[in-house]
Amino acid sequence: MEQLPPDVKLLAVSKFQPVEALMEAYRCGQRRFGENRAQEFAEKAKALPSDIEWHFIGHLQTNKLKLVLPYAYMVQSVDSVRLVEAIEAWAARRDRTVRILLEEHLGAEETKQGFTEAELREVLAHAEQYGHLRFCGLMGMATRTGDEAVIRRDFGRIAGLRQEILTEMPQLKDFTELSIGMSGDWRLALEYGATCVRIGTAVFGPRPGPEK
Ligand SMILES: *Cc1c(COP(=O)(O)O)cnc(C)c1O
Repeated sequence: MEQLPPDVKLLAVSKFQPVEALMEAYRCGQRRFGENRAQEFAEKAKALPSDIEWHFIGHLQTNKLKLVLPYAYMVQSVDSVRLVEAIEAWAARRDRTVRILLEEHLGAEETKQGFTEAELREVLAHAEQYGHLRFCGLMGMATRTGDEAVIRRDFGRIAGLRQEILTEMPQLKDFTELSIGMSGDWRLALEYGATCVRIGTAVFGPRPGPEK
């Protein structure tokens, strides 16, 4: 992969990849990995070196928190109030703080995952109720399409929302991340201020097994 600007984080999305593939990236210096299934996340986190920063990026069911939260540096894919509350409760019981990104539902018709803009504002307006969560920013997935105008519309929406939140809610001092951009659209994402790009196939090659 070409060089990213130095202030943009590369999250290597290693879902479906065998542990050896992750180790190869690790030996090349990669330390941030993203997984989207709870069981696989836990297994890899246990098997791989402890200085890896693990990001969860898939739909997280509340009954799977115990697989993910002990190892997660960040949960990027928080997509419902129910999940916000469940993570808060989990963290409060253990006197821990969990870093999260709120996922905005963008165009992608094939998935309903993510908050609407209104829901997302509502959660952030009550952020102080969640003393064990660190609201670190937004995550979004653009519509899966070859139509650049549609992808730009999606990225423009989430980048605009982020800007508004930063202006309207300066008390959210950790709200710095914008996680947008995947293998097919990360160059565009940089134009919209991505601070983290989540790259799978462009790092590891095609995923073995089922495409998800
Ligand atoms: C799989 C996945 C990616 C990476 O997709 P690629 O197209 O392989 O780069 C990024 N973000 C999320 C949420 C994913 O599930």
